[in-house]
Amino acid sequence: MRYDPKLGMYDGKPRPGVQRSTLCVSSQVGCKMACKFCATGTMGFKYNLSSGEIVEQLVHASCFSDIRNVVFMGMGEPLNNYTAVVEAIQIMMGSPFRLSPKRITVSTVGIIHAINKFHDNLPSVNLAVSLHAPDQDIRCQIMPSARAFPLGKLMAALESYQEKSQQKIFIEYIMLDGVNDLEQHAHQLGELLQTLKVVVNLIPFNSIGNSSSFRASTKENVRAFQKILRGVYNIRTTIRKQMGEDISGACGQLVVDPFETNACRSCEALGGHRRSASVICSLSASSFNSRASPNIQFFCVKF
Ligand code: SF4
Repeated sequence: MRYDPKLGMYDGKPRPGVQRSTLCVSSQVGCKMACKFCATGTMGFKYNLSSGEIVEQLVHASCFSDIRNVVFMGMGEPLNNYTAVVEAIQIMMGSPFRLSPKRITVSTVGIIHAINKFHDNLPSVNLAVSLHAPDQDIRCQIMPSARAFPLGKLMAALESYQEKSQQKIFIEYIMLDGVNDLEQHAHQLGELLQTLKVVVNLIPFNSIGNSSSFRASTKENVRAFQKILRGVYNIRTTIRKQMGEDISGACGQLVVDPFETNACRSCEALGGHRRSASVICSLSASSFNSRASPNIQFFCVKF
C-alpha cells in the first residue's frame, strides 16, 4: 500500500482527513507465467484467489487508509483468474467502496483472449500491459509465456481494444541492463507503439537475489531511453519510483519461501506467523509492519 504524498497536501499543508493511498493487490498465490525477472515467477503457481479473497485485501487496507487507487500488480497474472478478478472489481466499484473504474488498473503479460473481452466486462477500468521488450525474441527470453502470445497478435489485440474502449493503455517496461535498455530498443519500442495512445512506465529492476542474473539499468540509460520515447516519438513516458525494496516488497520481489523458517518480516510486529504457501506476504491485510518505509506499508493475508 502506498500513500500518495501529493494527495496528502493542500496548498503546501497536509490535507485534513485521512491519507489516501494506492493499494497493490494480488490475484493468485504464485504465478505460472515464470517471468525471469520476477521472484513470484520462481514460486510456480499455487492457486487462484477467490473474488472474496481479492476484495479482502481492500477491506483490510481500508482500515488503515482511504484507498483511492487499486492496481492488480501483486502476485499472479490477473487475466489467468479472469472470472474472480472481474467479480472482485465489480464489488470494489459498488457499495461501500465505490471505487471509480478509472482508478482501477489491471496489469497483464498479454493474455490475448482475455484482452479481447476486457472492455466488455470492465468498461473504463485501466489496462496495463507488461511488454518489457520491443521484439518477440527478447520478450521470449525474459518472459517465457510470450511464446503463447506472439507480439504481433498482442499488438493487434491492443489496437482493437483501444478502438473499442477509446482508453489509453499503460505499457510496463522493466529496465534490464544490456538486455532491453539500449537506444536501439527505445527506437524499436517507439515505432511499435506509434499507432496506439499509450503511457509508458519504465520500471527499475529490483534485485531478486540468486534467482536472477539480470542487473538494473543505470539511471543514465533509463533517462536516455525516456528521452528517446518522449523526444523522438512523443510518447508520454514515466519512470516508476522505487519503493519497498528494503523489505523485499518492491515490484517483482513478492515471493513466499516455503523453506523459510523465520517468522514473516511483515508480521513480526504482531508476533509473526510462519511463511507458507497459504500466506501472501507484502500485500494487504490484518496486520502491518511499522518498520516499513515511511510511505509504504505491507500486510499479510492468511488463507
Ligand atoms: S511479473 Fe507478473 S506475470 Fe510475470 S511471473 Fe511475476 S507475477 Fe507472474
